[in-house]
Amino acid sequence: MAIRATLQTLIIQLWARFSLRKKLSIAFVTMTLMPIILITVITWQPQEQIMKNSIIERNRTLAEYIANDINDMFTERIRFLKNVVNNENIKSMAPGQQVSILRDIVTQYPDMQLAVVSDIAGRQIARWDGKEAEHTISYTDREYFNTALKTGETTISGIIMAKSTKKLGIVIAEPIKKDESLVGVLIINIELSKLIQRVGDTKVGNMGYAYIVNREGKVIIHPDLGIIDNGADESSLFHIKAAISGQKGWMEYDYNNEKRIAAYSYVPSTKWGVIAQQPLNEAMGNAINIKIKSILVMVSTVVIAILMALAIAGALARPIADISEATNRLAEGDLAVRLEVSTFDEIGQLATNFNNMTNQLVKRDEALCLAQEELENQVKKRTEELMIVNEELRRISFLDGLTGIANRRYFDEFLEREWQRSKRENTSLALIMLDVDFFKNYNDTYGHIAGDECLRRIADILKTTAKRATDLVVRYGGEEFAIILPDTNVQCAKIVGERVRSGVEKLAIRNKTSPISEVVTVSVGISVSVLAKEALPITIIAAADEALYQSKQNGRNRIKVANVSWDGTF
Ligand code: GH3
Ligand code: MG
Ligand code: MG
Repeated sequence: MAIRATLQTLIIQLWARFSLRKKLSIAFVTMTLMPIILITVITWQPQEQIMKNSIIERNRTLAEYIANDINDMFTERIRFLKNVVNNENIKSMAPGQQVSILRDIVTQYPDMQLAVVSDIAGRQIARWDGKEAEHTISYTDREYFNTALKTGETTISGIIMAKSTKKLGIVIAEPIKKDESLVGVLIINIELSKLIQRVGDTKVGNMGYAYIVNREGKVIIHPDLGIIDNGADESSLFHIKAAISGQKGWMEYDYNNEKRIAAYSYVPSTKWGVIAQQPLNEAMGNAINIKIKSILVMVSTVVIAILMALAIAGALARPIADISEATNRLAEGDLAVRLEVSTFDEIGQLATNFNNMTNQLVKRDEALCLAQEELENQVKKRTEELMIVNEELRRISFLDGLTGIANRRYFDEFLEREWQRSKRENTSLALIMLDVDFFKNYNDTYGHIAGDECLRRIADILKTTAKRATDLVVRYGGEEFAIILPDTNVQCAKIVGERVRSGVEKLAIRNKTSPISEVVTVSVGISVSVLAKEALPITIIAAADEALYQSKQNGRNRIKVANVSWDGTF
């Protein structure tokens, strides 16, 4: 049960894998082959039997035809001879009157080789050829003569050699009666060769032949004269016995290891048997020939049927395969694919629909492409705008909101960059840091807003002081500022630092609560990097910061340059 189920699923899976063309081919080939094979199988055996029967029937007809022919011939001759012996001239037993009648007999029947009259003592008294009767010839040693004399009936001999012509023949001996008493015997002889011609010309197939046996079963007429000369005795054969006992029929038998079929019949007037026999192989050879022919016809029919089935399957499957192929290409993105519409049936409709659908797809694709292009343009535009905004934001993010100068964030980045550059290019980098003196007091005295304004003014003065393009002024945080001076040595940095300090003082922003000055002042710390190549940027900041602290300690409103050593310490 499990095996059956597995096999079933296997077949279903295999079938599912086949292409449409393969499926149709299998179906068509099966449909065309089934009836041909069935018919062949059903008719195979009967055909053989029918052919054998027809050959047997033919041979039976042949044997019967020969028997009838021989029988008719003898019946007719005997009737004729009975007429002749009633003739007064024959009854007269006067040779002079008999000769012309005897000549007429032989003339009338060319197969009769002689016609003579013997007296009851067995002496020849008259003959057909008009020659002087040979009184030395005696018929008393002839069985047929003695039988005819004894029975007074028509007697037919076996094969004998005629005493007058020395030719083989069969004798009909007809007693001559005058007033109820025997006076002589009319002897005619039918030449054997003529009889053989009559029978032996009848071929039974190519290998077979017809022959005749007498009532004892001895062969008397046969295409092979040697067999007749032998006096071949066939009486032991079953069908010969049957034939000479008056039966008609056929049988199959072995003869010297050869299978034969023999049809037999009976000649009543002579009590002979007629046999038409043929080797079974030859008889069935025809059947085999016909069978081979029918196989050839069947095979060619099968081949043609298969070719036609394959062609039809191909023709049916091709448009569907084309459509399948086209949908595959479409699925792969080939929008140029189109199907040829060559029919008006469902396939044609399918192809038309496919083409329409593909056309629509192309249209949509084009519309989609346009939309996408539009979108891309917009995205590009927006991106550019965003970049501008970003740039602006970035710029703003690096600016100090109060003073508008760079902020601490930008300071860190800028210092790092310039630090690396100064190391690379082996130039000095200066950093100035400054802090408003007593600014807490300022705020407390003048208020925060004034404090802010003060910081703005300080930023402005720093910007005008460090005016090189590479210089950077930064609000470092609260009221602390820084200036980065790339490629600047200690002397120059000191000059800038001093300018810054005096610049702020000259602003003359009143700060009445400052213990050291009437106006707002700043303390400045300066550091230069050239000596501290391996140090981090933080080092220069710390150094400047320290210098600034020292400015504060030293009394404020002054500058101080950091003492930076070779290894970056100070
Ligand atoms: P010193 O001379 O020691 O620096 O004295 P100082 O008063 O300046 O002391 P410190 O530096 O500690 O005080 C800084 C003050 O600066 C504190 C704060 O009120 C003020 N300040 C910082 N940032 C701002 C700002 O943005 N606006 C205003 N108006 N004031 C600020
Ligand atoms: Mg401060
Ligand atoms: Mg201060």
